[in-house]
Amino acid sequence: MRKKIVAGNWKMNLDHTAAQSLFSEIVNMVNDEVLGQQEVVVCPPSVHLYTLAQLAGKDAKVAIGAQNCHQAASGAFTGEISASMVKSTGASHVILGHSERRQYFGETDELLVLKVNTVLEAGLTPIFCIGETLEERNSGNHFDVISGQLKNGLFHLPAGSFGKVVLAYEPVWAIGTGLTASPEQAQEIHAFIRQQLADQYDATFAGCVSILYGGSCNAKNAPELFAQPDIDGGLIGGASLKSRDFTDIAKVFN
Ligand code: PGA
Repeated sequence: MRKKIVAGNWKMNLDHTAAQSLFSEIVNMVNDEVLGQQEVVVCPPSVHLYTLAQLAGKDAKVAIGAQNCHQAASGAFTGEISASMVKSTGASHVILGHSERRQYFGETDELLVLKVNTVLEAGLTPIFCIGETLEERNSGNHFDVISGQLKNGLFHLPAGSFGKVVLAYEPVWAIGTGLTASPEQAQEIHAFIRQQLADQYDATFAGCVSILYGGSCNAKNAPELFAQPDIDGGLIGGASLKSRDFTDIAKVFN
């Protein structure tokens, strides 16, 4: 059985005080209401990682993740943070290859190979994002784009390492737009991703990798999306900034 995961991506939102109060609300709600085996992860801006990890405490039902890190172990990279620094805050996950990083910060598949390696070496779980733009979908290239992102960013990993990766399919046209992929559209791509994993590794391995959906996922559409056989949870942007909505999404797996 693969893990069901609901992860919140706060992006560049919330100051230190607001981050602590939202996180405390989420922890309380999750402790009281999330009853299944699903994992709940919150990815705040990096400056909040340590404080939120402290707030979560040791037996936390809510894990903490970063939204990015640098590919090098340390050194003269002004403004950057390393995977081991993220780890030392108490965080356990790192989002990699988000489309906003690919689009606005020029992150390429080649760079993401280095980042995924450094994150795995630090003992963190990468949440690795892939997905096509509207243009790519409209021109019928979406399957090629997705298989290219998998092949170029992740297929260098042996199965043992890939087994620690969580995938997130996020169609770029659905992120922050209110346009969600239909459950059928999302399922079609998730099944395609799993087939790529089966072809590269094997079917048993492919059946164990968690593949999250992201892109305008909310408490209303999550039940139908998460009911699809190859959708194992969500990477939630806007709706993760509201404790009630985010917890309700996590509760879909109760
Ligand atoms: P959204 O963002 O839920 O606001 O569309 C998802 C994401 O970018 O991870």
